[in-house]
Amino acid sequence: MTRPVASSAQVLAQAHGALTKEQRDRLTPAQVLDELRKGNERFRAGAMVSRDYRAQQRSSAAAQFPACVTLGCVDSRVPAEVIFDVGIGDMFSARIAGNIVNDDLLGSLEFACAVAGAKVIVLFGHTACGAVKGAIDDVEMGNLTGLLARIKPAITATKSSGKASSKDDAYVDAVARTNVLLGLDGIRRRSPILADLEKKGALLIVGGMYDLSTGTLDFLAEAPVSEP
Ligand SMILES: [Zn+2]
Repeated sequence: MTRPVASSAQVLAQAHGALTKEQRDRLTPAQVLDELRKGNERFRAGAMVSRDYRAQQRSSAAAQFPACVTLGCVDSRVPAEVIFDVGIGDMFSARIAGNIVNDDLLGSLEFACAVAGAKVIVLFGHTACGAVKGAIDDVEMGNLTGLLARIKPAITATKSSGKASSKDDAYVDAVARTNVLLGLDGIRRRSPILADLEKKGALLIVGGMYDLSTGTLDFLAEAPVSEP
């Protein structure tokens, strides 16, 4: 079966079939990032592509050639495929509370990029993140305690003009943003494989913040932040 060859500027917006190897390999990391930006614009405009998921499931069953990998929070309101408007087989999607970066997630990102060929990593946090609030409040509960501890460096590194409280929405979002920046630093520092791909221009590693109230994913302009 042949299908129309979409231009490189719209292959993540196709209604039928998942990305082919040829389509994915033709894209530069910058083009992939641009497509993600456009996907979020479509989502915000309510102009999502109407996809035939069964066709995408069938066309991707034998092999996958995703163009990117996202690492976001488990929050029910931040499903990456939906907010970036991409279909089955086009994106690796890793999720963990507070979008923290640990060794197993680094391994997942290395698999996605160095083995399976993804060209962009989007590490994104979101507004009003419950995990960030829990870390600020020093919540201790079972295995959550250890996970929240990984967010604490972002609290230390975030300046507060007020009470540094989980009830201060702006502060919570500022910590979430710092958490993303520290996560990007962690990816580059702790994964020589990914840092090397980025240096070679084969990979873009970018951060983002998703606004629950507007549906907007803002890609972060990075200022250097390192773990205190
Ligand atoms: Zn969250």
